Amino acid sequence: MIRLTNIQLPLDHDEQALSDAILKKLEITADQLIDFTVFRRGYDARKKNSINLIYTLDASTRQDDFLLEKFIADQLVKATPDMEYKFVAQAPENLSERPVVIGFGPCGLLAGLVLAQMGYKPLILERGKEVRERTKDTFGFWRKKVLNTESNVQFGEGGAGTFSDGKLYSQVKDPKHYSRKVLNEFVEAGAPDEILFVSKPHIGTFRLVSMVEKMRAKIIELGGEIRFSSRVDGVDIKNGQIRGVTLSTGEKIQSRHIAVAIGHSARDTFQLLLDNGVHIEAKPFSVGFRIEHQQSTIDKARFGRNAGNPILGAADYKLVHHCKNGRSVYSFCMCPGGTVVAATSEEGRVVTNGMSQYSRNERNANSAVVVGIDPSDYPGGPLAGLDFQRELESQAYVLGGENYDAPAQRVGDFLKGKPSENLGSVTPSYTPGIKLTDLSKALPDFCIEAIREAIPAFNRKINGFALDDAILTGVETRTSAPINIKRGDDFQSINTKGLFPAGEGAGYAGGIMSAAIDGIKIAEAMALSINKEF
Ligand code: FAD
Repeated sequence: MIRLTNIQLPLDHDEQALSDAILKKLEITADQLIDFTVFRRGYDARKKNSINLIYTLDASTRQDDFLLEKFIADQLVKATPDMEYKFVAQAPENLSERPVVIGFGPCGLLAGLVLAQMGYKPLILERGKEVRERTKDTFGFWRKKVLNTESNVQFGEGGAGTFSDGKLYSQVKDPKHYSRKVLNEFVEAGAPDEILFVSKPHIGTFRLVSMVEKMRAKIIELGGEIRFSSRVDGVDIKNGQIRGVTLSTGEKIQSRHIAVAIGHSARDTFQLLLDNGVHIEAKPFSVGFRIEHQQSTIDKARFGRNAGNPILGAADYKLVHHCKNGRSVYSFCMCPGGTVVAATSEEGRVVTNGMSQYSRNERNANSAVVVGIDPSDYPGGPLAGLDFQRELESQAYVLGGENYDAPAQRVGDFLKGKPSENLGSVTPSYTPGIKLTDLSKALPDFCIEAIREAIPAFNRKINGFALDDAILTGVETRTSAPINIKRGDDFQSINTKGLFPAGEGAGYAGGIMSAAIDGIKIAEAMALSINKEF
């Protein structure tokens, strides 16, 4: 097979245009082309009134070898790489001890699945409930303000990304094509086929829920076990070797191979690990607000007269601005046609995030607008970033009226520095509700200064971004883990053998895809380590 990259065609091209483009590029006739598939489809919207689709195509011809030789100097014509996932190990037949995975988010899910596929029969421990029960609890909080601190947007089967836009793209380097393995597993579990080829795949909340259930069933079928409402509250570490964990029920589980895929919100578990001597360091993260515009404003700014084209879907954006005070402000986790959600896992705190359905057809576009911060902004020990987050989240709770409503402000008022008193054309989507106020009190001054500078700069790229009526809600603090549980080349903690820090919570991923990829790497490292000791 020959992979052709950067094949550009107009947005409204017909079916025949794809094979015509292959024939032209390879300088062959129709009878020499056997078949082709679309590996990737993206678009170039820099000229919004003449948007091009950009394809990567895999073509099978009657003379692949000859053509690859002929185009040897052309970087856009190469042999299609082998992307099939190959397991690195098989479990020994008389395996006496199960590997344990703590956390059943995207990282724990893929770690558990790959371990199960290799025959290791993993035991997965998840503090939250199974996904249907969790959905009831999460919507209960959004609708009735009843927070279950163990079953919410952050905790429960599927992890933090379950109630999300389900964006699946990531910028991590992936020379071994792990992302293909993740996408194939997701499609097998019910994700739409198009995630395999669109350049910015997304799944949306409702599909994620049923996919997670199917993947759970597959792990169980392969001999794995998943225990819900099973919070790890204790760890047994002796002479620098993990030996087991204790659950909130008091039950003790022995294992010398334990993955910690607990996400960025397991603050109590971070403390537990630190108290037991696991090496943890503070790391940079970001804080800010969610911004909402009408989706039609974003579509028009990005796609001009092509706004509404079904191939393009609801428009997204990715923005960054380097400020005079040395800070960077960037858009994060942009959710086209979605809603802003209440994402706290702790009482008396307000945290924002965003989600959408597969159709992305809600009225508003939302995105976080966040400022990069550094451990020097919150001096203290390795967990000082958690205290910093908590302080901002508690302050937001107070500003919102101490009832889980989020503090909010119109962008025009925020830029002018005056409290908002009424809404304009953009209706905030955050539930349970918002309280109009002055958001300048919600973040440190240097953050406010940076965001005030960035919004007009973003408006120069997305016309309408700084619209007076656009809405800010806050605070967005759970952008990534403020810590790094250091691991070595063997993926084990640098001072606790057998403990495999994994995914977003340990500081090795940011988003569903990168967390899932890290899960595969961790499964491989655990399997190899088990086999070495066996
Ligand atoms: P998590 O998904 O956080 O999973 C960790 C799991 O560990 C949780 O289920 C938790 O209950 C469990 N756990 C924690 N402590 C313990 C313990 N002591 N014992 C047992 N279990 C424990 N990313 C994207 O790429 N695209 C998006 O569109 C997107 N949208 C998002 C929307 C929202 C509302 C949120 C909150 C996040 C979103 N993200 C998105 C981020 C993404 O969800 C995370 O990056 C990803 O889930 C991290 O995966 P993880 O497996 O490392 O951790």
